[in-house]
Amino acid sequence: MAALVERQIQSERVLTVNGLTLVASKTCSGTWHQVSGDRCDCKGFEHRGTCRHLAVALEAQQPERPVCTKCGRQVNRLFAGQCAICRSSLD
Ligand SMILES: [Zn+2]
Ligand SMILES: [Zn+2]
Repeated sequence: MAALVERQIQSERVLTVNGLTLVASKTCSGTWHQVSGDRCDCKGFEHRGTCRHLAVALEAQQPERPVCTKCGRQVNRLFAGQCAICRSSLD
């Protein structure tokens, strides 16, 4: 069984387990919302068809992005070893 790694994304606590993403509830501590594919089990999703957990889970499913040491921003893609934002070398 893979170790559970809790991550902090957009100030939310996030766990990813076997394709399922769990996002800690802010209103109800100790509760985790399950996000699977493009669905979440929270009330907000039920009413609006979208919610914050979904956005956070989507981000959690992206591979870790490198952070530029110069400008401190996350870089979408390494562009020939350079930061696409400030153009500084990333190595
Ligand atoms: Zn939700
Ligand atoms: Zn940069």
